[in-house]
Amino acid sequence: MEISQVGELLKNAKRLVVLTGAGMSKESGIPTFRETQKAEEPPGDGADLAALWANYDPQKLATPEGFLVDPTLVWRWYEWRRQMVLKVEPNAGHVALAKLEKYIEDVLIVTQNVDGLHARAGSRNIVELHGSITSHFCFANAHKAETVPFDLPEPPECFCGSPIRPAVVWFGEALPQNAMEQATRASESCDLMLVVGTSALVWPAASLPYIAKQNKAKIIEINPESTPLSDITDYALKGTAAAILPRLLECF
Ligand code: NAD
Repeated sequence: MEISQVGELLKNAKRLVVLTGAGMSKESGIPTFRETQKAEEPPGDGADLAALWANYDPQKLATPEGFLVDPTLVWRWYEWRRQMVLKVEPNAGHVALAKLEKYIEDVLIVTQNVDGLHARAGSRNIVELHGSITSHFCFANAHKAETVPFDLPEPPECFCGSPIRPAVVWFGEALPQNAMEQATRASESCDLMLVVGTSALVWPAASLPYIAKQNKAKIIEINPESTPLSDITDYALKGTAAAILPRLLECF
């Protein structure tokens, strides 16, 4: 019943923002941080790196300070994740979101994910709030590194001598220039926001549904669990991204 009511909202939407988090990609086989779940173990030293994920320590693995202390560890962990991400495929939820662009004029995907799966599914308007795990730049001067080969045991050097790092936003770092501004503007002017697979705990991304709500947009959450956001949503659809999003598409 709720599905058809949300389907009606989608059919009438003119400007849609979709905020996605790690749960969006879980059914593609990418674990979320908050569920200590072991990923499939890749060969070689992958088991150690998978164990690092299970006991994920953001201070060691996802801060500039952590990179300075042990650049090789951080490099190897992100390389392992880059390879994991490139091995998986977008799931039925990513594909349904991409197809929504056929029916709704103005769709913006604002993702906290760094895996590039929305683009691979065919979505065209995407803001990557936390960067991309498949891109790189240098630590000291942010010089872009065009192609970084796989399986390097430690970070390569930029022409300026600084180590290369993944182009993801680490804790304590600012979001990419313009990304938050574009996401905020879209949240201020959308009439409907879908919030999919995020615990809504990481700020400033978590502020976007509140901004949309303040500006009278309807808010729909898709998540098997309740989150701090569930109280302000118009509908909280309990289920997974790959199960619910294709059903919403069927409403068109
Ligand atoms: P999170 O791990 O805090 O929360 C994940 C949320 O997804 C939870 O609320 C959970 O109930 C929900 N969920 C789990 N399975 C789901 C499914 N199949 N369908 C829909 N929802 C599901 O993730 P977050 O809120 O994105 O914040 C954590 C940070 O971790 C973000 O900054 C993100 O950049 C980063 N991250 C990214 C990836 C990725 O790129 N795929 C993976 C892990 C973490």
